[in-house]
Amino acid sequence: MQMRSQIEAILFDAGGVLVLPDPTVLAPLLEFYGATASIEQYVRAHYLGMAAKSRSRSLESDWSAYNEAYVRHVGVPEADCAVASAVLARTRSAHLWRYPVAHSAAALMALHDAGMPIGVVSNASGQIEEILLRSGVCQVGAGPGAPMRCIIDSHIVGVAKPDPKIFDFALPFFPGIERANIAYVGDSVMMDVEGSLAAGLTPYLVDPDGDSPACNATVIGSLKELLVL
Ligand SMILES: [Mg+2]
Repeated sequence: MQMRSQIEAILFDAGGVLVLPDPTVLAPLLEFYGATASIEQYVRAHYLGMAAKSRSRSLESDWSAYNEAYVRHVGVPEADCAVASAVLARTRSAHLWRYPVAHSAAALMALHDAGMPIGVVSNASGQIEEILLRSGVCQVGAGPGAPMRCIIDSHIVGVAKPDPKIFDFALPFFPGIERANIAYVGDSVMMDVEGSLAAGLTPYLVDPDGDSPACNATVIGSLKELLVL
């Protein structure tokens, strides 16, 4: 892509990009309602859920379209989808977003090793920095995961995507880099693509199976594809 060579820094969403709702917790939960035990299907269900959430134009507070698509994809019978969705909504707390996305931690480390300035901007609940550290994905500064310049948590800064002002908390960590030359990598059309576009950044959408509705972003299957930047 024409844009790629201009990218001088990368900011990442956390949910769906670095960590997923933990399928090793959610599979036993939903098996009770007839769902599969296949972890791979729960990983895919996240992206189908995000695509449904994007299509329904739901804001951060409304995960009903996500929950319904999620339980349907993991095999809950149609008649039980409503109750399973409700149980999923009550169980999938902020602290369950902790299952590392395949290839993400390695890709972050490779980007860091290549000298790319990187950071995180997440709609979260005050927990995301601790969870990213504990899951071994990344942390601010040196540690077991990839060193990030910043990890911005919407709960801590008081502004959430799609409000473009949340990115103002990250930009001071990337001095001298034009907004348009900073990529923002997310998995939501409304929160991430539209929010980062409104902030003047360059959006990338993680959509491993091509589930998302069309949008104004460069679509990638995994963070490995960022290594060419
Ligand atoms: Mg996300």
